[in-house]
Amino acid sequence: MSPFVFPGIATRVVFGHGTLARTGDEVARLGRSRALLLTTRSQAEAGAALADRMGETVVGTFGDAAMHTPVEVTDRAIRAYQGAGADCVVSLGGGSTIGLGKAIATRTGCDHVAIPTTYAGSEMTDILGETTDGEKTTRRDPSIRPETVIYDVDLTLGLPVDLSVKSALNAAAHAVEALYAPDGNPVTSLMSLEALRAIRDTLPKLREAPEDKAIRGRLLYGAWLCSTALGYVAMSLHHKLAHVVGGSFDMPHADTHAILLPHTAGFNAKGTDLLGPVAEMFGGSVGGGLWDLAQASGAPTRLADLGLSEADLDRAADIALKNRYENPRPFDREDIRRLLQAAWEGTRPAA
Ligand code: NAD
Repeated sequence: MSPFVFPGIATRVVFGHGTLARTGDEVARLGRSRALLLTTRSQAEAGAALADRMGETVVGTFGDAAMHTPVEVTDRAIRAYQGAGADCVVSLGGGSTIGLGKAIATRTGCDHVAIPTTYAGSEMTDILGETTDGEKTTRRDPSIRPETVIYDVDLTLGLPVDLSVKSALNAAAHAVEALYAPDGNPVTSLMSLEALRAIRDTLPKLREAPEDKAIRGRLLYGAWLCSTALGYVAMSLHHKLAHVVGGSFDMPHADTHAILLPHTAGFNAKGTDLLGPVAEMFGGSVGGGLWDLAQASGAPTRLADLGLSEADLDRAADIALKNRYENPRPFDREDIRRLLQAAWEGTRPAA
């Protein structure tokens, strides 16, 4: 048995159907009574319904959460937090809204109850990516981690299928990279494998039955596990490439993850035994199996379809090699360029 450190799991989790009704109790459990409720504009109605239900516990709402957590939005939200005399934040939404909750919590020291409505998986982590004048920086700190996460399967029933599929594959990418993370441990590995199994079994069925509670429940359970694993380990090649393609070429975050995953995972499968159980789970081929899953679930499979040009691939490969980071398989520029070409064309990886 290799030595490892298991840091424990710091966040309280409430999972089930109809658990949204417990939000007020969870706020009270933290010793708080004055919440600022956060949403995006498109989820303002769901936010208003929750505020109604929570009565006096919600002292204000802020409905301007935005992608990539712009600092100017955070500044406005903190003014709303202070103006309302709030003592905690409740974020209801996807990674963007939860990111805003984290940004407020780490600056003010307040408690944060996160209620995720996608599978992207920000809620269980100590990671915060923020943008200032279009420049994104990411950091980790214990003060970023929400105190409580409420998973209510019912909130995901109406999540559009395309968004569901892409955010679930974004989650799967965290599980895959957690399996070979230099700071991984047996618990994050168990969680990652269980998560990948749950996603494999449910995702292709979603388009046929988007409101099936059993499918949605198992998928959200998988997303919770992916998020938890991500919260305790470092990411490698896949996340680096997704960051380069998404950040430097302004490609959509979730689509980029979904397209790259079979290629990065297939590449790394040749460099580590730790993806062996994933190969077993996916018919003998990590990259091929993940590509089949994406295809069967109706996910995008070609970077070319996002509008990336073939010439951009050269620049992406150069940028990706600028900073070194741990990865189970060594690589050079040619490897990265080849990988990007395959993802651009959308070919099924052999490994
Ligand atoms: P998102 O939060 O941007 O949501 C996309 C849109 O879907 C928003 O308009 C949102 O209001 C809407 N939406 C969310 N749930 C819905 C539902 N159930 N029904 C209808 N509409 C719904 O997208 P996302 O994929 O959840 O999050 C992506 C962001 O999260 C990225 O910025 C990414 O960097 C970040 N992220 C951070 C971490 C971390 O650990 N820090 C982890 C994963 C993702």
